[in-house]
Amino acid sequence: MEIITHDIIVIGAGLAGQMAALETSQSSDTAIISKVHPLRSHSGAAQGGINAPFGNATPDDWEKHAFDTVKGSDYLADQDAVEILCKNITSRIVETDSFGAIFDRMPDGRLAQRPFGGGSFPRTCYAGDATGHEILNTLYEQFIKNNVKVYEEWLLTSLIVEDNACIGAFAINLKNGEAAYFRSKAVIVATGGCGRVFERTTNSHQSTGDGISMAYRAGAQVCDMEFVQFHPTTLVGTNILISEAARGEGGLLLNGDNERFMEKYAPAAKELAPRDIVVRSIQTEVNEGRGIGGGEFVSLDLKGLGRERLLEKLPQIYKLAKDFANVDVAEACIPVQPAQHYTMGGIRTNNRGESSIKGLFACGECACVSVHGANRLGGNSLAETLVFGKIAGAKALEYIRKKGTPGILKEAVGKEENRINHLFRSGDGSIAEIRKELQKVMWEKVGVFRNEKDILGALKTLRTLEESYARAGVKDGSRIFNTEMMQAIELGFMLDNAELIAKGALQRRESRGSHFRTDFPDRDDNNWLVHTIFILKDGKPHPSFEPVRITLFKPEARKY
Ligand SMILES: Cc1cc2nc3c(=O)[nH]c(=O)nc-3n(C[C@H](O)[C@H](O)[C@H](O)COP(=O)(O)OP(=O)(O)OC[C@H]3O[C@@H](n4cnc5c(N)ncnc54)[C@H](O)[C@@H]3O)c2cc1C
Repeated sequence: MEIITHDIIVIGAGLAGQMAALETSQSSDTAIISKVHPLRSHSGAAQGGINAPFGNATPDDWEKHAFDTVKGSDYLADQDAVEILCKNITSRIVETDSFGAIFDRMPDGRLAQRPFGGGSFPRTCYAGDATGHEILNTLYEQFIKNNVKVYEEWLLTSLIVEDNACIGAFAINLKNGEAAYFRSKAVIVATGGCGRVFERTTNSHQSTGDGISMAYRAGAQVCDMEFVQFHPTTLVGTNILISEAARGEGGLLLNGDNERFMEKYAPAAKELAPRDIVVRSIQTEVNEGRGIGGGEFVSLDLKGLGRERLLEKLPQIYKLAKDFANVDVAEACIPVQPAQHYTMGGIRTNNRGESSIKGLFACGECACVSVHGANRLGGNSLAETLVFGKIAGAKALEYIRKKGTPGILKEAVGKEENRINHLFRSGDGSIAEIRKELQKVMWEKVGVFRNEKDILGALKTLRTLEESYARAGVKDGSRIFNTEMMQAIELGFMLDNAELIAKGALQRRESRGSHFRTDFPDRDDNNWLVHTIFILKDGKPHPSFEPVRITLFKPEARKY
């Protein structure tokens, strides 16, 4: 097996990975590895914007941003981490702006800011409705300038850990199927979320939770996996995201009786209540038979904005609705329904991006710092990628300063080769079928509304699927761009993520943020103001709990 050596390897080339690599590449030999071309990372799909308390539209400051974030998180976010996010994000945006990202501006030249759900003020900076695309492309230019070595279309398969220190990772070059041993002094995981575990999701096909699972298998702590964000407005059928920016710009939600139903559920914030509340409101309307024509969706009405404003502020949505639902949004409503959107949980890190394994750092959606707690506010994820990507990079640089190049773990090589070869055995059952069943059971039984009976049912199905997975084999024997092999490896990661989500959801006997238990509908601060931690022990997730760090705002009832 080829051995490739770098000081630091970053896994994932979305905004978090790129930001971390930009930081480390200034004074270390950094490589970034991504299973897709960097510019195809899911970050590029981010539409609505990025929160920063510039106060350009209305007076604002980091404390107000922090309060909205903590309240939005249903008080589960670690408040010292939130403070770091809100104090640093304006500098990161100014930096990105200076790199050349073209944000929308007000007539006087200051950055424009739009309202977003759960924000007390218009705080979301944006580049039309393609903010992620704009920032990702801008960082990529810096990347090329800094000569960061990129291994694109390489799939990381496992981390290499010795004496609780991460000393590299195995990856497969998808172009020729050859595996390689990446030896490094530190590894930064920035592999994004696990949205594809659910049947309905806005996430791209790459979002299979690989890094979360790899870190968990390597012995790292994984945190708060039961908190899965569902987005209220996705196109029926494809579940392509219709950004919150649509409601920020004035879009209304209507049920089958043409009623603006959000007035009932969140009288003050209405359509701009946080996502968890809007999702449950839509789902309740649907479940009680008030979907459009009694179906599983409601309407998003953007007609009031007029064609000119739609084309200026929401050009992507205008086009998506036309191309994928044949709707002219200036004249008709868009049929929308909730779908999975964001993974709040992930690899547990401290405020410096360090995981519970030495030399293993995590940032972005795959990490749980935790700034989003039980429910992320729209616009805060892009903010997290930039702020904590840079912090994790800086900490990794500091960590490797005293480190020599690690040796090669020979026994790990043999084990990894066997594991990959084993995938090609002639098994029965189809990888695609197992994945489909997994996604279905997670959506139906561990989705928007949860209860003990359903979750237990889901766990039972997951066990059966694990067994089928152990028997299934990759039928396509070729090694060149073998997507069946790639999907087989990803399915293994997805099964881990699904189990952690379901087990977390089962043990948390309360409702908080995105996690709603119909059998325990209230928030319970006496027993559950804690993070759920899992580590792998004897082949099973072993649970423990960690208190939430409350430094700024006392928990109170969450009303909008
Ligand atoms: C449709 C959509 C719209 C959104 N809009 C907004 C918004 O307006 N504002 C906001 O704040 N947030 C938004 N979000 C959320 C936000 O975009 C993401 O949380 C964030 O961009 C994640 O960035 P990341 O760098 O952590 O990961 P990603 O951008 O998901 O990148 C993951 C990277 O990891 C790589 N990778 C994964 N597994 C492997 C592996 N096994 N081997 C090698 N490489 C691997 C991938 O190739 C990719 O490069 C949106 C999300 C979606 C899905």
